[in-house]
Amino acid sequence: MIRCFVAISIPKTVAPQILAAQAGLPAGRPVPAENLHLTLAFLGEHPEPVVEDVHHALSEIRSPCMDVQLEGLDAFGNGRVRLVCIRAVLSENLARLNASVKQAARLAGLNLPREKYVPHVTIARCGSKGASGEDALKLRDFAARKAGFRASFRAESFVLVRSYLGQSGPSYEDLAEYPLTWLQTS
Ligand code: ATP
Ligand code: MG
Repeated sequence: MIRCFVAISIPKTVAPQILAAQAGLPAGRPVPAENLHLTLAFLGEHPEPVVEDVHHALSEIRSPCMDVQLEGLDAFGNGRVRLVCIRAVLSENLARLNASVKQAARLAGLNLPREKYVPHVTIARCGSKGASGEDALKLRDFAARKAGFRASFRAESFVLVRSYLGQSGPSYEDLAEYPLTWLQTS
């Protein structure tokens, strides 16, 4: 089985700014530079032939290059804090690409949940239980103090990524890269 997701990679030029935003993290496990990404859709675990079908469907997507704007930090979770992230602006192009990716995955037979897309780059994770009490308060305060964070980059491709979950955190492997085009197509 292949655990996989579709994402926009964070360029090496922007990673240092994001790592700087991790500075002073009061709790949780920081995400290493090589794992930083903006998820477009989490696909789950599937047999290889299904992932190949998804790959072919993703290859058909014609979507324009876009500027991705990162704005402010957030602490996600109900009560507990599951993760700290940098929010991305949901531009029209990003929303369309998210919809195209989900449509492609569904065409390939995947049953994806119809949840609202909240684009973000996770910069710290707090384990399966999440952080509570004092740690949760500190993490929310940390995110609030960095509300002024701004960065942007040009996305020229998106990737299909395999995820290996391990004791010391996940590791990711790019399975395929799909170019975004300069042409506006519908
Ligand atoms: P770990 O689960 O060990 O903390 P991870 O979340 O980075 O590691 P995966 O669970 O394989 O690794 O997830 C890969 C990517 O997909 C991550 O960006 C994660 O936030 C996102 N993701 C995982 N599950 C979901 C889900 N149910 N809905 C939306 N995004 C998800
Ligand atoms: Mg996970």
